[in-house]
Amino acid sequence: MTKLLLATRNAKKLGELRRILVAEGIEGVEVIGLADVSEFPEAPETAPDFEGNALAKARDAAAATGLPSIADDSGIAVDALNGMPGVLSARWSGKHGDDEANLDLVLAQLSDTPDERMGAAFVCAAALVVPGGDETVVRGEWRGSLIRERRGANGFGYDPIFVPEGGTRSSAELEPSEKDASSHRGLALRALVGELRKLAG
Ligand code: IMP
Repeated sequence: MTKLLLATRNAKKLGELRRILVAEGIEGVEVIGLADVSEFPEAPETAPDFEGNALAKARDAAAATGLPSIADDSGIAVDALNGMPGVLSARWSGKHGDDEANLDLVLAQLSDTPDERMGAAFVCAAALVVPGGDETVVRGEWRGSLIRERRGANGFGYDPIFVPEGGTRSSAELEPSEKDASSHRGLALRALVGELRKLAG
């Protein structure tokens, strides 16, 4: 069984990657997370783009553990804010991971923006680094538009104010399986399937 490290402590991300491998019929790969390996220093995310952060995290994880490693970096890019918050999505209000304050700040910044210019995209870059082997970086984008009031209780982060293109519900009103099927993270992880098949041998 080949071990594959997903450089995260987020159980939802681990579950999503495991479900994708099962759905693609990839056997012989065991997905583990950061909680399953010895601790190593995790560098701050300083790259100007999602790809750079994902690749840096995957390289660090592969170097520290010797395991093939995947890392992701994601966020929301708002058209009317010229693609921001972007890589700063998790700390837009100044405090890392304060989802409520991040949402309030984005909505305040958009208060004079007309409804037809509320377009946005969730973006996820995922990098796979195989020690002594290939490095692969892929990107998934999920387009939609922002709404001014929060709706729904699922998901996290900006989900309550994001309505995916072609739908009427916010991404916090989608079932987790519906979100996985079209989300930026689902798209990016599925784009790695070809490389993961090679690992499985
Ligand atoms: P990270 O990639 O885990 O560092 O997440 C970056 C930030 O982007 C999160 O804290 C959220 O604010 C936002 N984000 C990324 N993906 C999603 C999503 O699927 N829904 C809502 N917010 C997201």
